[in-house]
Amino acid sequence: MEGPSRPKLGISSCLLGNPVRFDGGHKRSDYVTAKLANYFDFSSFCPEQAIGLPTPRQPIRLVAENSDAEVRAVHVRDYSVEHTKDLHQYAATVIKKMAGFSGYIVKKDSPSCGMERVKVYEKDNAPAERRGVGIFTAKLMLDLPGFPIEEEGRLNDPRLRENFITRVFTMFRWQELLRRGLTKKSLVEFHTRHKFLLLAHHEITYRKLGRLLADLGSVSVDVIATSYIKLLMTGLCHLANPRKHANVLMHIMGFLKDQMSADEKVELLGLIDDHRTGLVPVIVPLTLLNHFLRRYPQNYIVKQYYLEPHPRELMLRNVI
Ligand code: SF4
Repeated sequence: MEGPSRPKLGISSCLLGNPVRFDGGHKRSDYVTAKLANYFDFSSFCPEQAIGLPTPRQPIRLVAENSDAEVRAVHVRDYSVEHTKDLHQYAATVIKKMAGFSGYIVKKDSPSCGMERVKVYEKDNAPAERRGVGIFTAKLMLDLPGFPIEEEGRLNDPRLRENFITRVFTMFRWQELLRRGLTKKSLVEFHTRHKFLLLAHHEITYRKLGRLLADLGSVSVDVIATSYIKLLMTGLCHLANPRKHANVLMHIMGFLKDQMSADEKVELLGLIDDHRTGLVPVIVPLTLLNHFLRRYPQNYIVKQYYLEPHPRELMLRNVI
């Protein structure tokens, strides 16, 4: 079965510029609409409109009796008017429509869509604590463990942005694998091609996944696949950093050591070290490594998604 040619993302509707906010306005994200829209298809949702709230409307907020109590979404002026259950149920209906989605971008600070540090009010007039999660997004995160979800505000951070897009494209490749038909062989190949990408994020997860796949002889591939993708996506949530990238680059360089000249090794090692110490972004040693891979092809290495986990035109690795 033919699948979509590019990843599909769910998104908070106001981020696309739709006038759905409580004040009748929007919160268009230029990065989303001008940059990401060239690489992703979006499907937008406004939970507050979907549960029947008008636009414009009185805002809602998160409240809790105390720090241990359940967090509820209520009308800002009348806490007896509650929307928690409706937002929860709406999230459940959206999750059913998300089978082909590879990720979701949510609006920060919203009592419905925020992913972290949303204000929670405990008493009238007391300062709010930034400890909440929007009710809609909390349900997505609970029911879809490991699924790539990110706030638009956090996408301004180059490392968080690169991490999210990496996870989205990994999820997209996984969905393509499922569409083509999962077999033990294709699962092992998928894992093999993600080896260095995962090592750059979380080596412990790579080892755990190896042990999981060792059960393929006795456990059905479908059972293993469910655990596999959750664990993989959770492992990729760990941020890559210059030290981990440097280790992976050295590891890959080891495959070329017999062909590379002494001068070439010195040159590449110098750039890897420059990246490790923060002098140059990871794209610099990677570009030279790719140059040597073209000169000394290694089939196992050139298939590694680490070399290009997302479209290079997004230039995500030019700034980390
Ligand atoms: S943050 Fe969510 S609920 Fe609020 S306007 Fe945007 S899409 Fe609607």
